[in-house]
Amino acid sequence: MFPTIGQVGRNLIIPGGTRTIDATGLLVMPGGIDPHTHFEVEMMGAKTADDFYKGTRAAVAGGTTTVIDFVLPEKGQSLIEAYNNWRQRADSKVCCDYALHVGVTWWSPSVKKEMQQLVEEHGINSFKVFMAYKDSWMLNDYELCHVMETCAELKALPLVHAENGNIIARNTEKLLAAGVTGPEGHALSRDEEVEAEAVNRACVIANQMKCPLYIVHIMSKSAVQALRLARTRQKQPVFGETLAATIGTDGSHYGNACYRHAAAHVLSPPLRAPHTAEAIVDALAHDDLQIIASDNCTFHEKDKELGKNNFSKIPNGVNGVEDRMEILWQKAVNTGAMDPCRFVAVSSACAARVFNLWPRKGRVAAGADADLALWDPRRERTVSAHAHHHAVDFNIFEVTDPARVQPVAAQGARGGRRRRGPRAVGPAPRAHRLRARAPPRRRLQHIRGD
Ligand SMILES: [Zn+2]
Repeated sequence: MFPTIGQVGRNLIIPGGTRTIDATGLLVMPGGIDPHTHFEVEMMGAKTADDFYKGTRAAVAGGTTTVIDFVLPEKGQSLIEAYNNWRQRADSKVCCDYALHVGVTWWSPSVKKEMQQLVEEHGINSFKVFMAYKDSWMLNDYELCHVMETCAELKALPLVHAENGNIIARNTEKLLAAGVTGPEGHALSRDEEVEAEAVNRACVIANQMKCPLYIVHIMSKSAVQALRLARTRQKQPVFGETLAATIGTDGSHYGNACYRHAAAHVLSPPLRAPHTAEAIVDALAHDDLQIIASDNCTFHEKDKELGKNNFSKIPNGVNGVEDRMEILWQKAVNTGAMDPCRFVAVSSACAARVFNLWPRKGRVAAGADADLALWDPRRERTVSAHAHHHAVDFNIFEVTDPARVQPVAAQGARGGRRRRGPRAVGPAPRAHRLRARAPPRRRLQHIRGD
């Protein structure tokens, strides 16, 4: 979709008719890559609020110029058929580049054949499997062996949702029987050990099947530890992804008296104790984790209501595709945990390499795609459900305690400090000022080549 970068350097020869954008004082970075979104999909009886247009619009507003979404076939459904459905939904609506992972939600020889077809004829190079969601998408260990073995044969990468679905199912039954029905039950049914066990098991299965592995949404310190051990122990490469939600908010919200508020934070694996964020940032900074995604999967209040009397029926998912990069900048670069180069690595370059988008994506160099983010580390913005570009009516990164909101200078509200030149073009509205939770110091603008 994007044109390519012609030249990089000083004293360039600029062809006539070229529009010049003054980026003085800004960081010029490769556009972000969010390898984990769910737009326009039905799950747990509800349809996500963000469709491919509004979802990618939000992505672009936050500096992300490529997303990778998930085709999720029903059990028994043809993978190719599901893939075609997703293409049909997405192709006409996306306003940035996108790619697809394909879920393997059931197993048979025909699935194996279709995996091959997807790789050879449709350019798919990653398949998602679930160790959780018993009775829907979950595969057993024997089936996981088959999928990973097939991935190894096809030189594709399996992505794993690592949580022990059987333990979660049993814990859920027990909690409901004991009268625990609210959103707090969601976190109680699946603690860190339940995640870490599955991370370890997935790594062992992949190693045995001689297959590299990518674990999506690592959400806890225990899971990071299990992953770190596996990465030092085994021969096959293992990559770990975490989410903006993990570093931008925490599991204390499950105890909020307001159902809407608590349910809005429900995703799987769940948010953990507040001290987790620092450990996750540390893991990203030191390469125990390689990628930060969003798992953007937004549901309106009316849909989250489906789980009002039973936490296991709350549609799982939160926002993040718009705020991911700025949350990371705030929590990792502003705090000194990470330098801007590592920021680019975990928000863009590593995903480009892992998902075969390198060298076109994830770098600023002649020949690479010209999807760039111009990043002003001094600018401010306020996170809010009213101001964001998502369709959804809630934002988990919004400051809800007015005492914690930092005052913003009047001239910061509009126009006064705007630089000449850089602006978002195309279907996405111009990125606007948002104000963040902690000392707000960054703002971005994104441009697309035209
Ligand atoms: Zn997901």
